[in-house]
Amino acid sequence: MIEVAQVDVFSLAAAVTALLLAVALLVAYAINRRLKAFVWWAGSFALLALWLATATLRFEKPVVPVLWLSWGSFYAAACLVAYGLYREGATRISPLGRILACGALFLVMATTLTVLHARPHYWFLIGPIPTVIFMAWSAVLVYRAGAWGYGLVLVVGIAIVSLLSLIHPGGLARALSPRRPPSALRGGFGEAGDPGAPISLNPRPAQPGLLDFAPPAGPHPPVEQPLTVTLITVVALLAMAIALVMRDMLSELDRMRERSSIDAMTGLLNRATFEETAVGLLRVAGARPIYMILFDIDHFKRVNDTAGHAAGDRVISRLGRILRDMSVPRGIAGRVGGEEFAVILPDCDLSTARQFADAVRSGLSTSDFGDDIGWGVTASAGIARHLVDENLDGLTARADKALYAAKESGRDRITIAPDAMEERHWPGQNVRLAGSA
Ligand code: GH3
Ligand code: MG
Ligand code: MG
Repeated sequence: MIEVAQVDVFSLAAAVTALLLAVALLVAYAINRRLKAFVWWAGSFALLALWLATATLRFEKPVVPVLWLSWGSFYAAACLVAYGLYREGATRISPLGRILACGALFLVMATTLTVLHARPHYWFLIGPIPTVIFMAWSAVLVYRAGAWGYGLVLVVGIAIVSLLSLIHPGGLARALSPRRPPSALRGGFGEAGDPGAPISLNPRPAQPGLLDFAPPAGPHPPVEQPLTVTLITVVALLAMAIALVMRDMLSELDRMRERSSIDAMTGLLNRATFEETAVGLLRVAGARPIYMILFDIDHFKRVNDTAGHAAGDRVISRLGRILRDMSVPRGIAGRVGGEEFAVILPDCDLSTARQFADAVRSGLSTSDFGDDIGWGVTASAGIARHLVDENLDGLTARADKALYAAKESGRDRITIAPDAMEERHWPGQNVRLAGSA
């Protein structure tokens, strides 16, 4: 019968930490279901908890199945981290090849250690090697894919895991300990009564039985070391998890903000955002000239009726693209209705506004929409100059009136609201004064 002699406080604290982190990752996933990778990482931390929990137990004799379970779960934990990164899209390269290659290395290593009856600290020294190779390999792939943040997480993970394994009381510390008694060479997953090893949780004298713990013989190791390392691990891993949650939430916020402010079909501002931005521009303009131009596609119902809605959408997208290309350096443009668009041009004069409107008009009328629309699609525009102290509604109403006049006088033309007159005469047959013949 296997007898457990001691419990190692170091491993126990780290195991509890790993379990808490697994729960924290599941909670983060429950809050934001898009963080699918967190489910895999929670599984990874649960496996790490198993690794640490098995390392907690100190047996009188080596227990090979426990060693395999412990180090197998340690290796599987790394596989879940890599698989989570793959699912998260940090790299497109499937981790299967790496899992198989490093799994083979793990089998060779574990079999060799078992056959050689290696002492536990050899497992602590050699055990992490396949995992570290696997994680480093994954870090390089993730880094190459441009997700350097995840690469950094992996590197920090490798550093923590290596550190834990090296300073574990059953690992390098014991291998190097000059005070190691001959009995410590006997084997076991950490031998009972080893002075370099664990602190007993139970001051009662040793008794046979699975849950009876014996006090260690010889001097106790200091408690500070395991507690400090556990604390560092907790803080580092929690900071990483929080950083990832924050990163995802912030990019989600950005996406939501963009979705709610941009018209999907044209890439222009939607009506609400256009109006909000325009109000701001009018407020800061003071006496400086600002122009508004409203566009409406001519006979658009006919496009829909004869060529279909999809063709109509193409025309809307095309006009959106023309406006986007032209307005970016000069002002703002928005889709304010189905096939109605508005532009605000700050610090502008009438002839520039007129040229802008005419360039958009002729850009659309010379566009080729294929055979399904058998005529040249045109648009009309109305221009109005912002009057001092005029609000957006007043400016829009005057531009709309000018647009209506353009429609009335035959379409495919630009009309200027009377208040916007700076020059009485301008060339171009498609530019009229509202109300003029
Ligand atoms: P007018 O020259 O007087 O402007 O005539 P019109 O036929 O263009 O009339 P109006 O401006 O009222 O046309 C609006 C039409 O636009 C009605 C509606 O079916 C269509 N429409 C609105 N939004 C969309 C859209 O997103 N896609 C498509 N394909 N059609 C749309
Ligand atoms: Mg319309
Ligand atoms: Mg129209």
